[in-house]
Amino acid sequence: MNKLIFETEPTKEKIQIPDELIFGKTFTTHVLEMDYDSEKGGWQDAIIKKHENISLSPAALVFHYGQAIFEGLKAYKQIDGKIVLFRPTKNLERLNRSAEKMCIPQVNIDFVMEGLIELINVDRDWIPNKPGHSLYIRPVMFATDPMLGVKAGEKYKFLILLSPVGPYYPGGFKPVPIMVTDKYVRAVRGGVGDCKTAGNYAASLYAQREAKKLGFAQVLYLDGLQQKYIEEVGTMNMFVQFKNEVATPRLSGTILPGITRMSVLEILKDWGYNVSERDIELKEIIDAYNNGNLVELFGTGTAAVISSISKLKYGETEIMFSDDHAGELGTKLYEALTDIQYGKSEDKFGWNVIVK
Ligand SMILES: *Cc1c(COP(=O)(O)O)cnc(C)c1O
Repeated sequence: MNKLIFETEPTKEKIQIPDELIFGKTFTTHVLEMDYDSEKGGWQDAIIKKHENISLSPAALVFHYGQAIFEGLKAYKQIDGKIVLFRPTKNLERLNRSAEKMCIPQVNIDFVMEGLIELINVDRDWIPNKPGHSLYIRPVMFATDPMLGVKAGEKYKFLILLSPVGPYYPGGFKPVPIMVTDKYVRAVRGGVGDCKTAGNYAASLYAQREAKKLGFAQVLYLDGLQQKYIEEVGTMNMFVQFKNEVATPRLSGTILPGITRMSVLEILKDWGYNVSERDIELKEIIDAYNNGNLVELFGTGTAAVISSISKLKYGETEIMFSDDHAGELGTKLYEALTDIQYGKSEDKFGWNVIVK
């Protein structure tokens, strides 16, 4: 049985959280680190230690062949001061699914959860208690063997980093313009589109840069085979509200099974909406828009929670919503989710896990 070791010292200086937090740039004092070595029987003890640079061989497998996976979740300081994690087990289960597909060893979910809770507790003063702020949690795991052969590693490092973050939309909940691409694809059947693996994000940068140049916030990808069905946006799952249905692409193996997506589906069902997970043709969205059957579009993901969409552009076709007012359903969902996270409403689904 592995142990959790604390290499921490009482913090001498008072923690200063910057007023202007740029996403993912500020880190807390500590990390959780756990090494895997097949020659030493697998996972070693986990250590809560100072956040500092690590040393790796230039030959470390991860630099050459990209065996790296990660997760993203948040801890919130609630209005009564309680600290909670939002559905963290779902993230660790997904981490293990990504691990399996990338030939990376799986972690013991209960042990990592215990370590995560202790880590957050050690760095609890780093959690901002301003409205819309939270602590972003980034577990990451990669192959470290100093070895140039193309093969799965025998040695891995698992780290959990913590980063205090401000509201995703500092100017208020604003809708964003999205560009549909049929020039680039994100994932194909039988690939790794459903894993949070580093290479997927490296591969998305080029299309993202092109969209940025044209004034769009993100790219909406179509399926990799026929480029007919919508898949997902950058790092968000996509929802389409038609007059009589709220639909989202089904989990076919090419999109990331988002935990916000899953939560939104559960809330919508609870509210009595007709929801479906199915194939959605881009043409169906354009036709619905032209017929007055399209109500709104939004994306879901941990970082922004809900991103309302102001405009969807596909070639010469433009689907226009309001530039400055987020859609009604997206706003309602944003409030419902964040109210649960910040403890402003009852957690009736039992999603929050309390960090002592
Ligand atoms: C992380 C991610 C999402 C959103 O998942 P959540 O669990 O809701 O944060 C969606 N798409 C991609 C490609 C992602 O990496």
